[in-house]
Amino acid sequence: MVRVDSAVAYCHSYLICYSMDVNTNVPLVEKEEISVPSFSKQSLDNLSTCDIRLQKLFLSVVKEMDCTILCGYRNEEDQERAFQKGLSKVHFPHSKHNTFPSVAVDVVPYPIDWNDRQRFVDLYHAARRHAIVMRIRIRWGADWDMDGNYWEREGWEVDGPHFELAPDMLKLN
Ligand SMILES: [Zn+2]
Repeated sequence: MVRVDSAVAYCHSYLICYSMDVNTNVPLVEKEEISVPSFSKQSLDNLSTCDIRLQKLFLSVVKEMDCTILCGYRNEEDQERAFQKGLSKVHFPHSKHNTFPSVAVDVVPYPIDWNDRQRFVDLYHAARRHAIVMRIRIRWGADWDMDGNYWEREGWEVDGPHFELAPDMLKLN
């Protein structure tokens, strides 16, 4: 009988696994690398500024699909900078990124390819699946009215990475 003793060591974005004989604890394979993506320090720092439900969600999602957390909470200075750059359409404090913890998070598939919209859709579908399991409802920036039709309005570089807790989740707070 063989079990895999997981979470032995994290090495950048790979989990190093050791297969052990469960009775003797003798390693059967010296070292086996399996590809389980995990967040970089910067992504974790960004994610840590978000609502705990978004943290749990994307810590789960990243194991299935590698991604990068671009932004969680934005203070007034960050928000005005984002507005100037065209990355946000509103001034402080009107973005969902401006509450602390943030109820919005910007996430992109990793490696980042802004021309590959399908991977953004794939990331949303992965996030939605994990969210259903966790009983969380999310709204994606490419489907603001939540009707299942994506990219109905312009500004996709702004909206494509944007995920937020759905309005009914905020009422429960
Ligand atoms: Zn956003």
